[in-house]
Amino acid sequence: MSLQTKRLPLAPKDRAKTKESAIIIKDGANRKTHSHNYCLEMRIPWANEPTSYQRWHLSCAVFQVMCSRLLILCAICACFFASGQIAVARVEWQVIKINGRDFLSVDNIAQFYGFPGPAINGKNVELNNGKNEMQFHIDSREMLINGVRNWLSFPVFVHDGKIVVSRIDLAKTLEPQLRPNMIPKLGRVQTVVLDPGHGGFDKGAISGYGYEKDYALDLARQLRPLLQAKGFRVIMTRESDVFVPLELRARIANATHDSIFVSLHFNATDRDPIATGFEIYSLTPRGAPSTYEDGLTLGSVNIQNGTEADAASVELSSCIYHSLLDQIGEFDRGIKRARFAVLRLTKIPAVLVEGGFLTERGESRLIANPGWRKKLADAICTGIDNFGALADNKKPPLVMADYRRQKPGGAAPEKESVVNPVAPPTLSLDMLYSERPSENSNALQTPTPSPIGTAPFEP
Ligand SMILES: [Zn+2]
Repeated sequence: MSLQTKRLPLAPKDRAKTKESAIIIKDGANRKTHSHNYCLEMRIPWANEPTSYQRWHLSCAVFQVMCSRLLILCAICACFFASGQIAVARVEWQVIKINGRDFLSVDNIAQFYGFPGPAINGKNVELNNGKNEMQFHIDSREMLINGVRNWLSFPVFVHDGKIVVSRIDLAKTLEPQLRPNMIPKLGRVQTVVLDPGHGGFDKGAISGYGYEKDYALDLARQLRPLLQAKGFRVIMTRESDVFVPLELRARIANATHDSIFVSLHFNATDRDPIATGFEIYSLTPRGAPSTYEDGLTLGSVNIQNGTEADAASVELSSCIYHSLLDQIGEFDRGIKRARFAVLRLTKIPAVLVEGGFLTERGESRLIANPGWRKKLADAICTGIDNFGALADNKKPPLVMADYRRQKPGGAAPEKESVVNPVAPPTLSLDMLYSERPSENSNALQTPTPSPIGTAPFEP
């Protein structure tokens, strides 16, 4: 079949419109006019009725269908955008000022994140939208986010009939874990800086089986190849039993790019010989007390650092912590805040993992077992990998409910109580009603045993 192309004579007014773009395609049987300008001109509704030969423009018909699809697509996009705008516009933050500090009601938080109204059972306040779940406890800093314990900077309490949460906690603890893919400036993770705690003359905590410094170094050595196998570059702040100053550890971390910092420790206490379980720390937000402080100190007001990485750090805590609890299942002591030097001085997302207590007989035996430390390394690796996937491609990290679903026949276990069974749950609300500490006021040290367990030994 031969194709010939030649110009077709058009009416004078059409010729003026089509000019050089009129082309005839002849395939032996059919002669078709191909004039984009002409067809487009004639087929708009308010134009003249097309003549019979003009209706045969196949490519123009296709073009028209494409145009109409484009219009539909534009309409859908416009509707979607408009509905998004409406959804955002519908919920406004209603900040409640209490003694100069900002709070938000739980109802307001529920509305913003699309939770149905809170289910209140005594002092427990539950929010669940099928995607995320939160459980607050009135008059307590302790709460559950997606099944794991978190320690807020300030207690949740009732004010004028509303249950309120501090703005700092909403911004620094709830938001990053509820919408991790919206954490600002979450860069790629290519390098993991592993920081085995202590070393050299600084033995760290001691059990009947050995020293914290040795366990931490072995944990890092076991974790390194696991991370490398996942494609991460790994830098260690110490490779052997040597003392490395804390400032130098932070400097090593800050000299890296596209990186995170994970400090590895084991816990100890002289207050509670049966204390067990994992905890994980990220830097205390500016203007807030650390988990072990029950009041504002000068330090909590004046010292701040690394705020750019705050949200990323708490989410890194969350990723590692969910994995730890899933894979090993030691007691959930929670995601906590502290101003440890290595957290304060690092400028990249940074956490400090406490992998169990050397002062508890059973746990110290586990920690002394290299096979158990390998399990710990596996769990930390999974958590870091989840965080890396979030940072790289916004993949939502796995939380406890996801891990449970992945297990064969894994029905969701009974819900954990929000209140730590080994520690009294509530803190004084006095700090919320007292004056904001001035530059000259004395620091309010923690006078009573901590409700969260025991103060850590880490500097
Ligand atoms: Zn330590």
